[in-house]
Amino acid sequence: NDSRLSQAALECLKKEGLGAGASRLVCGNMTAHQELEEKLARFKGSQGCLLFSSGYMANVGVISSLFGRDDMIFCDRLNHASIIDGILLSQAQYKRYPHVDMDALDRLLQEAPATGKKCIITDSVFSMDGDLAPLDKIVELAKKYQAIVMIDEAHAFGVFGKHGKGLAEHFGVEKEIEIQMGTLSKAAGCFGAYVCGSRDLITYLINQARSFIYTTAMPPSIAAAAAKAIDIIENDHFTRERLHENARYLRAQLKLMGFNTVISESPIIPLVIGESHRALEFSQRLLRKGIFVSAIRPPTVPEHTARLRLTAMAAHTKDEIDFTLGQIQRIGKELKII
Ligand SMILES: *Cc1c(COP(=O)(O)O)cnc(C)c1O
Repeated sequence: NDSRLSQAALECLKKEGLGAGASRLVCGNMTAHQELEEKLARFKGSQGCLLFSSGYMANVGVISSLFGRDDMIFCDRLNHASIIDGILLSQAQYKRYPHVDMDALDRLLQEAPATGKKCIITDSVFSMDGDLAPLDKIVELAKKYQAIVMIDEAHAFGVFGKHGKGLAEHFGVEKEIEIQMGTLSKAAGCFGAYVCGSRDLITYLINQARSFIYTTAMPPSIAAAAAKAIDIIENDHFTRERLHENARYLRAQLKLMGFNTVISESPIIPLVIGESHRALEFSQRLLRKGIFVSAIRPPTVPEHTARLRLTAMAAHTKDEIDFTLGQIQRIGKELKII
């Protein structure tokens, strides 16, 4: 809802019109795309950047173009569905390791055949549990076994790190992660996705990633709005700090009430209920009070772990959060969850 973004989009819309018209490689390549890529590469401190029309397409395109039958991918069990689809399309061999279990990952890497590329792929902030991937340890293991690391910063971009570059910045391992993907659809409030990495990686993707080549470029006005979002992310530390403050407060209060919030360390706060119908009932009762919290159910999350997924925002006021907490406590008691 930040009017600075819609203003940037409007100005570009007046100049460039609505659609990009074609794939970047045909005649859809516009100044707004290139400016956004340059800005992202500079912001992320990488040699290059490539835009995709969505995070789903970025993961599918990158993974399927870089890896094949002879390669081995190591994938956290709770990684986003788009990563799984990319792996399936690549036909690479893959092992899913138990969620953030570094001993298990170590063992799997040790057992891996010596031929082919090895790659560890992980969400940096997990979208349904709100916890963090131990990127420092992942980078260490990658060095030990000569594996490539790819991270999906969808929920970390704009949120983690001193400048909001993501969880790699937070852990100080930006230089050690070869493939850094993130979306512009979440904290950046726009649409689309980026992949940052070496110049060679970007050149390769431009020529090989089918979900980049065979699809129409993102509308230029969206790219212009995203460029504005990056300026805000880079300079507005106050809003980021308020976001984390709101999240900390919400988490702490829910824990005090006796809810199971798993091990969330981010603004994504799962409130695990158990059975789907109870999570739905909880969500509907909240909506009647004007509070919109969706119930996330299997197969998006494992059986018997249906949950409310709360997301703290920087724009929430203390009064709004306290009102929400009061309603959650009341309904939690009525439904005998606490
Ligand atoms: C949302 C999300 C995506 C997909 O991004 P879109 O731009 O919505 O296609 C990919 N990975 C993760 C971890 C996400 O949370």
